[in-house]
Amino acid sequence: MSKLKIDGSYGEGGGQILRTSLALSIITRQPVHIENIRAKRDKPGLQRQHLAAVRAAAQISAARLSGDALGSRDLRFEPGAARAGDYTFDVGSAGSTTLVLQTILPPLLLADGRSVIELVGGTHNPFAPPFDFLDRAFLPLLNRMGPQVVMTLERPGFYPAGGGRLRVEVEPAPGLTPLEIVERGETRRRLCRVTLSNLPEHVAQRELATVASALDWPEECLETRRYQDRHFGPGNVVTIEIESERIREVFTGFGRRGVPAETVASEAAAEAMRYLAADVPVGEHLADQLILPLALAGGGTYVTLRPSPHVTTNIEIVGKFLGVPIRVEPLAERRWQVRVGP
Ligand code: AMP
Repeated sequence: MSKLKIDGSYGEGGGQILRTSLALSIITRQPVHIENIRAKRDKPGLQRQHLAAVRAAAQISAARLSGDALGSRDLRFEPGAARAGDYTFDVGSAGSTTLVLQTILPPLLLADGRSVIELVGGTHNPFAPPFDFLDRAFLPLLNRMGPQVVMTLERPGFYPAGGGRLRVEVEPAPGLTPLEIVERGETRRRLCRVTLSNLPEHVAQRELATVASALDWPEECLETRRYQDRHFGPGNVVTIEIESERIREVFTGFGRRGVPAETVASEAAAEAMRYLAADVPVGEHLADQLILPLALAGGGTYVTLRPSPHVTTNIEIVGKFLGVPIRVEPLAERRWQVRVGP
């Protein structure tokens, strides 16, 4: 079969083009040639974590590969069918386990049997979906579409110590069913959780106080999850969870060296406030991650914020593999509708 050419410098120009292309290449059995990989990033080409995603995709589909080297900007990938099974992928140091999962989960959702995936590396990395977001926001929506995916954080992995471990159990479905998420409904539960690993308690106190004051949330919405095993290294994440009648959303601030706790907490709070003010059900990150499953389902609608470049780029890449129309329309300045299907 002739190879589909994908330009990795298109739009957002990051790793998502690579991951979406690999996932859909396996599902559609369409060989791909990806050029200009991550052309718009500071360190372009395949970095360790992208290479881990490429190798994982190749392993679950017995793919023929060329160009799978560190720094490579050009990859050829010729997959077989997705094979369900037990897999372990070590992303190396604190490389993002969840971005590797983003690559291999879609094909395994539709494979011919159950899979169990163990992932070793970072579990809470900036610029990637953190474990809590996948577990509490993304997977519940995916599970409404037919497959049953359960994810367990066996051990956290923060940058730079890494060494985290995720276990993902995938019960596939013969196909995905469309999803309609046009309203949020009443708020049912609000939670701000600070995750703290080998850092002083005042970090959590300052972050919780910042979020409580920004969102005007009472004490009972605040909690701290502490890890004291010194092997986990230092780590800090602020997770804001808003559970409404029809959807649960999760917003994250990532603690980084040299950045005050108040700033980390304010970043998460600002994202939550933008979401609440726009009165939409789907936030920025869910918006780009729902496109692939909805396109595989052949239909669905959601209302979200003004689309990010990740959304528009993912729509473009999905369109190259699947002939499903996807329309993005403004409903108001801050409320947009994404409609998949005829
Ligand atoms: P890329 O920048 O192309 O490597 O893609 C990053 C991916 O990670 C996109 O799917 C983003 O939606 C996702 N992502 C980044 N930050 C977060 C976050 N805080 N919560 C959830 N998903 C995220």
